[in-house]
Amino acid sequence: MKILVIEDEKKIASLIRKGLEAQGFVVDVCLQGDDGYALATSRPYDALILDIMLPGRDGLSILRNIRERKIPLPVILLTARAELNERLEGLNLGADDYLTKPFFVEELIARLHAVTRRATGAQQSILEVGDLAMNLITREVTRGGVPIELAPREFNLLEHLMRSPGRVLTRVQICEQVWDYHFDPGTNLVEVYIQRLRKKVDAGAAVKLIETIRGVGYRIKPSS
Ligand code: CA
Repeated sequence: MKILVIEDEKKIASLIRKGLEAQGFVVDVCLQGDDGYALATSRPYDALILDIMLPGRDGLSILRNIRERKIPLPVILLTARAELNERLEGLNLGADDYLTKPFFVEELIARLHAVTRRATGAQQSILEVGDLAMNLITREVTRGGVPIELAPREFNLLEHLMRSPGRVLTRVQICEQVWDYHFDPGTNLVEVYIQRLRKKVDAGAAVKLIETIRGVGYRIKPSS
């Protein structure tokens, strides 16, 4: 999931970034309102974490403009304790939730999962390929009913493969989608993670689900 954070307090912004990245989110941080608004309206994000008092365009004006343009982006407002009127106005303008500073990043993550779940409520929450199943809400993965423990990036990589069984993802696509690298890092990062996934998902299984397509990339074998 890709999250945009518009927050001018560097310390808070960096805490949010660290906390979310540790959970496998891809995070863009903007410290200024006008740049933040430009990003929010030009790139696809799964959610926006939006401070109210910002240099440049303020948070409420960003929110108002996003809603006027009917951009279906879940928004969580960050508010100071004293900003009661702003908080109410924000909710009226279509914010999905708010958090009062100071807050725990864990709380923010829980709210993020809740608002993005609501936003994608129509989508299925369980991906299945053969006897491999992934629950996108509880983040549980099982093969033949046996739980598999995955690190956040491993989960993201497997999710991308499972979303389109049979489709080959190139190394570059995987770098972009899972690591948000818009360049080839020139390392064997992807290979390393594919190996880890194979150990956890395919080791000991009669059918190997993760396939290498020589010279192209990787895919998950579609169920026959
Ligand atoms: Ca601020």
